[in-house]
Amino acid sequence: MIDRLIYLDHAATTPLDQRVLAAMMPFLTGMSGNASSIHYVGRAALQALDDAREQVAQVLGCQPKEIVFTSGGSESINLAIKGVAMALRAQGKTHLIGSAIEHHAVLHALDYLVEYEGFTVTLLPVDRSGRVNPADLATAIRPETALVSVMYANNETGIIQPIAELAAICRERGVLFHTDAVQAPGQLPLDVQALGVDLLSLTAHKFYGPQGVGVLYLRRGTPLVPQINGGAQERRRRAGTENVAGIVGLAKALEIAECERGDYFTRLRALSDRLIDGVLTRIPHSWLNGDRVYRLPSIVNLGFAGIETESLLLLLDQRGICASSGSACTSGSLEPSHVLLAMGLAPHEANGSIRFSLGRQTTEAQIDTLLDVLPDLVGQLRTLTPCG
Ligand SMILES: *Cc1c(COP(=O)(O)O)cnc(C)c1O
Repeated sequence: MIDRLIYLDHAATTPLDQRVLAAMMPFLTGMSGNASSIHYVGRAALQALDDAREQVAQVLGCQPKEIVFTSGGSESINLAIKGVAMALRAQGKTHLIGSAIEHHAVLHALDYLVEYEGFTVTLLPVDRSGRVNPADLATAIRPETALVSVMYANNETGIIQPIAELAAICRERGVLFHTDAVQAPGQLPLDVQALGVDLLSLTAHKFYGPQGVGVLYLRRGTPLVPQINGGAQERRRRAGTENVAGIVGLAKALEIAECERGDYFTRLRALSDRLIDGVLTRIPHSWLNGDRVYRLPSIVNLGFAGIETESLLLLLDQRGICASSGSACTSGSLEPSHVLLAMGLAPHEANGSIRFSLGRQTTEAQIDTLLDVLPDLVGQLRTLTPCG
């Protein structure tokens, strides 16, 4: 069954690359030391961490010291936002800016700072295509703005934000800039100097690495209050015994993602164009959410008038096709996607939208199978709910 599955949910998590697993094996099966121990086994673990930090820094174009390993995307994002906010509050910097389409890790970290720490937050709107307008950021910045956080590419629509432009505005105004770049590796450039960002978050399981390990890039000199207190690991920025196997896997996965980026992008572009064109020509009253140009080729978010996403997901699942309603965190609930609502879709349009996210294992034959079954399934649902 598993090998007949058509997995189109890579934006939720990706399968572990065999080359990554091979790099991790010595630290999973042998003696994995504590990198803080002074003896031989500890030194070997520390060496592996140093090497991994160097590899990650190479891809991001930064110093190894500027890399903080964490438990994943959510932790990196919380550390970035809460860490900077708490560090700058004493200077009267109590205003934060995000965008309306951020992942819940960003939105809920901002909510927390409003509810418990007295901050105020401005959320930037997006246009119909899902993009933030840099002019809106320029007007939203105040003298008391501490940090701006805008994602690099959206996990529900794949829409790419003008990060370098947004970061340049912040730099000019003396405001720190964080980007949730979790969906970017393997598809978009990650050079932090070219992007001009001060903080950047990644998580390994979105680029064929293991689950439960992430990175925060923290530009040298950026003020940060640690959010996990304890030992002196990660230069006192994140306490706790390091996940050595996970970190080794993350570094290997990031290196591979960067190395194969051009080919991966081109291949996925062709597959996702095939999917979009196929759906739009075969299924009446269907549409693409977002933009055709500023889009990750791995994510295709399509809407179908007169259907409920949840019902379509169940029918697809019965045929071994795994897709998603957008953000996994809200699936199972009937709340329409905050991302699609922010783009101006009506609630019923958002609730008739579905995300297919492609990856390394996706083939043309799989896309064609999907294109063969989808018109019938949508048709079936439309006869059940005669409102389309
Ligand atoms: C998956 C994801 C996260 C959360 O990462 P975890 O490793 O699951 O904590 C954050 N932001 C975006 C855009 C994501 O896609």
